[in-house]
Amino acid sequence: MRRHYQTPWITRMWYPSLIWNIPSQDSIYLTFDDGPTPEVTEWVLDQLNQADAKATFFCLGKQMEEHPEIGRKIISQGHQVGNHTYSHLKGWKTKDARYLEDVRLGEEVMKEVGVGNNLFRPPYGRIKKSQISRLDRQIIMWSHLSWDFDPNLNVSESIARLKQARPGSILVFHDSQKSFKNLKAILPEILAHFQAKGFKFEAIF
Ligand SMILES: [Zn+2]
Repeated sequence: MRRHYQTPWITRMWYPSLIWNIPSQDSIYLTFDDGPTPEVTEWVLDQLNQADAKATFFCLGKQMEEHPEIGRKIISQGHQVGNHTYSHLKGWKTKDARYLEDVRLGEEVMKEVGVGNNLFRPPYGRIKKSQISRLDRQIIMWSHLSWDFDPNLNVSESIARLKQARPGSILVFHDSQKSFKNLKAILPEILAHFQAKGFKFEAIF
């Protein structure tokens, strides 16, 4: 299978109402999906702190329910938390009503924990146009995918491709157990690379 590290232009054209990058002169936008996860999210927060970087975490309701203290820690350190559904449904394969209910459930948990906002990222980036039109949210996609969840990943290739990011690029990582090994190899390299170039890392609002 061919890995797309960069979102193909045709995909962006097909979904013009979604956010694929953020207009900026000097900032890179790091995002972390599928947490919060004990140990992993905390490791990410440490890395971000050391690099004076802010980021956006697209959290799952079911994970947030189990680890609300990590969710609050993300916020207290100046990062953003967006909704990534309650149970990580694939929009293309899910009826609209069920999908929207899962989004709502995720949001409910975030609100209870006190970390909610209007940002949403569809799991797998798979969402139907009918679902998009019924979601009154800022839907944040990405320009660059790390593939950190792939156990057969060529880590140096991933790092090299992510280094092609430009101001305004949105990068995706995962603060999940499955991705931790790759994440540990990739994230410090990416932070150091863009820091040396004088870029800032900002959260999405
Ligand atoms: Zn996900």
